[in-house]
Amino acid sequence: MAQLSDDCFAFGGPMMSVDEAVGIITSRVEAVKETENLALDEADGRVLAGDIAAPLPLPPFTNSAVDGFAVNASDLPRDRADAFPVTGRAPAGAMAPAATRGHAVRIFTGAPMPEGTDTVFMQEDVRIDDAGRVVCPAGLKPGANVRRAGEDIPKGHIALKAGQRLRPQDVALAAAFGLTKLKVVRRLRVAVFSTGDELAPPGSARTAAQLFDSNRFMLIAMLKRLSCEVSDLGILRDARAPLADALKGVAASHDLILTTGGVSTGEEDHVKAGVESIGTLVLWRMAIKPGRPVAMGIIGGTPFVGLPGNPVASFVTFVHVVRPTVLALSGAVATPLIPMPVRAAFGYKKKSGRREYVRVTLRSARDGALEAIKFPREGAGLLSSLVDTDGLVELPETITRVDPGDSIGFLSYASLI
Ligand code: AMP
Ligand code: MG
Repeated sequence: MAQLSDDCFAFGGPMMSVDEAVGIITSRVEAVKETENLALDEADGRVLAGDIAAPLPLPPFTNSAVDGFAVNASDLPRDRADAFPVTGRAPAGAMAPAATRGHAVRIFTGAPMPEGTDTVFMQEDVRIDDAGRVVCPAGLKPGANVRRAGEDIPKGHIALKAGQRLRPQDVALAAAFGLTKLKVVRRLRVAVFSTGDELAPPGSARTAAQLFDSNRFMLIAMLKRLSCEVSDLGILRDARAPLADALKGVAASHDLILTTGGVSTGEEDHVKAGVESIGTLVLWRMAIKPGRPVAMGIIGGTPFVGLPGNPVASFVTFVHVVRPTVLALSGAVATPLIPMPVRAAFGYKKKSGRREYVRVTLRSARDGALEAIKFPREGAGLLSSLVDTDGLVELPETITRVDPGDSIGFLSYASLI
C-alpha cells in the first residue's frame, strides 16, 4: 500500500483553485510500487510500469505499399511509357528471388521488396500488352509506393513510456514488437462508501423519507474505467463512531478510500469528525461550481477523499480530485483535460475567480459549426442533467459571462475518465 504522510493534503489558503488542487495531488501523492506482467489482451487501460524501446524496426523489412509491379529506379521510364517483361512473383509472407535488371516483378502489398528493386508501380496505373509485358507510365518517382524498414519506428526508439495508460493502439504496438506480456502497475484497490441516513440500497425496502443510493454506483463505474479494483462497502449511517470504525477497518487493505455525502459542515455531516478521530483531514474549499467542499484525509497512510453528496457535484469533484489521485497513485503520467472549442448557443453569467462547469448537449449548426446547448436547469442534484447531456463546458476563472456565439471549451464525458 502507498504510505502517504499525514500532512500530504495540507493547504494554507481559504480557497483553492482547481489547478492548485491538481498540483498538490500530482506533486505529493506517491505511486504504488508493485507491478505485474500481463498478457496483451489484459493490458488495455492499465499503466505501463517501464519504458519500451523498439526491439526491432517497424516495418521490420522494406516492403511494397501496394499491389503492383516492382522495378529498379534506374529503369524508370522518363519521357514516355515503357514495357517491362514480368519475371517473378512476390506475394506477402515470402522472400522473392532477386530481380533481373530491366524486368518487373509482380508484387503484392506487404511483400518484401525483391533484391534489385526499390520502386513499385500501382497495378491501377499499368496495363499488360499483347506480349505479356507490363506497360508502365513515365514520371514515377524513385522509391514510390515502398515502405522502408524503420520508417514508422526505428529500432531502439522509446516507443511507449512508463506511466502511459495503455490504449488499444498502444497494445497493438507492443504486439507489433512481438511482445506477449507487458509490465504494468498493479490495480489500485479502492474502497467506496456512501454516507447518509436518507439512503437505501437499490433492491431494499425504501422508507418514505429515503432515496436510493445512486452515487456509489456512479463512482464505482468511474473507478472501474480507471482500472481500479473496487470494494463496494455499502452505506454508512450518519454517526461518527461506526463511520470511523468502518473507515479504519479498510485503510490497511486499500490504496484509497472514497466516500460520498456528509462532508459539508452541518451537524449531520459526520465524515469530517469521523476521519479526524482516526487520522488527519482537511476540507478543500475549491473555487468550482458545481462542487462543495471536498474532504481530503490520511488514515494510517492511506489517502481518503470525501466527495459531496449531490450527484453532479460528486461527478465534477471526482473528475478534478479523485481522477488525479488515482492517476498519481497508479504512476500514470497526468494527462491534462483538453477542452475542444465549440460555439455557445446560450448566454450565461458567472462569478469571477471560480471555474464553472455547464452541462451541455452538442448539435451541428446550419453552418456546420458545433454548438453547445445548455441543459435548461442548473441544480447540482439533477441526475437527469448528466444523463441527458454530452459533456461539460469549462468556463475559466477569469471570465464573468458567456454570450451566444462565443467560443467555449467542451469536455465530453468520455474524455473525463
Ligand atoms: P450531503 O453532501 O450529505 O449533504 O448530501 C447532499 C445531497 O445529496 C442530499 O440531498 C443527499 O440526499 C444527496 N445524496 C447524498 N448521497 C447520495 C447518494 N449516495 N446518492 C444519491 N444522492 C445522494
Ligand atoms: Mg448527508
